[in-house]
Amino acid sequence: GCSCPGFLRKNWLLLSTVVAVLLGIGVGVLVREYGKLSNLDKFYFSFPGEVLMRMLKLIILPLIISSMITGVAALDSSVSGKIGLRAVIYYFCTTVIAVILGIVLVVTIKPGVPQTADEIDRVGSTPEVSTVDAMLDLIRNMFPENLVQACFQQYKTKREKVEVTTGVDKNSSIFTEESVTSATTAEVSENKTQEYKIVGMYSDGINVLGLIVFCLVFGMVIGKMGEKGQVLVDFFNALNEATMSIVQIIMWYMPIGIVFLIAGKIIEVEDWEIFRKLGLYMATVLSGLAIHSTVILPLIYLIIVRKNPFRFAMGMAQALLTALMISSSSATLPVTFRCAEEKNFIDKRITRFVLPVGATINMDGTALYEAVAAVFIAQLNDLELDIGQIVTISVTATAASIGAAGVPQAGLVTMVIVLSAVGLPAEDVTLIIAVDWLLDRFRTMVNVLGDAFGTGIVEKLSKKELEQMDVNSEVNIVNPF
Ligand code: ASP
Repeated sequence: GCSCPGFLRKNWLLLSTVVAVLLGIGVGVLVREYGKLSNLDKFYFSFPGEVLMRMLKLIILPLIISSMITGVAALDSSVSGKIGLRAVIYYFCTTVIAVILGIVLVVTIKPGVPQTADEIDRVGSTPEVSTVDAMLDLIRNMFPENLVQACFQQYKTKREKVEVTTGVDKNSSIFTEESVTSATTAEVSENKTQEYKIVGMYSDGINVLGLIVFCLVFGMVIGKMGEKGQVLVDFFNALNEATMSIVQIIMWYMPIGIVFLIAGKIIEVEDWEIFRKLGLYMATVLSGLAIHSTVILPLIYLIIVRKNPFRFAMGMAQALLTALMISSSSATLPVTFRCAEEKNFIDKRITRFVLPVGATINMDGTALYEAVAAVFIAQLNDLELDIGQIVTISVTATAASIGAAGVPQAGLVTMVIVLSAVGLPAEDVTLIIAVDWLLDRFRTMVNVLGDAFGTGIVEKLSKKELEQMDVNSEVNIVNPF
């Protein structure tokens, strides 16, 4: 039966989130009807929500740093060799496919783009930078010139329109000059052309991409150092544990923050369009999850394992339902193990590696959701994303899904990372909090399904190694639990 008090606690959190959402909606509607709040009152009213947002942003930095470094370092020190490598390749490929699927869907369905005529008027601002600039910025941000600066600033190219005037002055000498004062331009025979001047600059916002790249390399290096690097690995492991404890504390405060965030949003909302958009957004996420779990993953399984993927998925039914109910891949883990080993007869040496590691780093559903949500919020903000920003969202959504712990709504916390990577207001997670408890369940189910298919696929690919291995020897891996 159910053994751990953690199970109850996770359920309690989930319950309180649902209650908070309902309470927030209730309080919001009441205050809106009867409250007669001034703008200043409204601002004060949502203060507990502001505190929640501040805490979430506060935790970004230690979260990225500790979870990326320890994740990569652990992979290197696990002795499972080829099997581990295959698992990681599987995790990575399926996560990237999920992100791409999400982006394609959200860009096609456009849940956040206004539909009414007067709203469309506001859109259509010309992008400041070209595709080339955007790609260069992406690479520049991957290699920040200063690690400390990367914690609060990222590089952005801006193009400024300048009028270049070419003409002949009184002494008949040819000159070209940017129009600075009207006095200069007045004296020459008019021959103006518009050109762009590229202005490089730093702007506010964490350079998430730069930090991720550095932490990946750093984790890889200390993982390979052996003895000498161990002290660093231990340090970051401890840091990661401490950070996760703080995240837990924030999660306890979260219901209170949510009540006021949602109530505050309802009080100030003027445009009820948002609900149509939210519905479309949910449909986008859910259809992405459906395609990924009923078409893409089964297809990969079919191609590699050559067995019926749906029979395999049926074997996992109990785990999938548990995930749907408690929205935590970590808490579902015991059930996932049982289904994989006893219903689908996967080798224990495979499940022991693929499932626990997968539950923490392989989250296809979360990755898909983060990508869709980020683009959705950009659309709500009338922001035309350039190719560099789309790539940034894809990379950070992948990283955010790796960094998210397998607990309820962890994806919502790491969402803030994706938003700040492209300079979107982190406050806008408020817009999706109301429906997140529901989406969380479905994405967790897809996360678990992805891990499960992974066991079958890695087992098939590792047939030779498994036969060679002494049947009685244990696979020596670091169990994260
Ligand atoms: N709840 C998800 C899981 O445990 C993580 C998330 O919030 O996306 O897999």
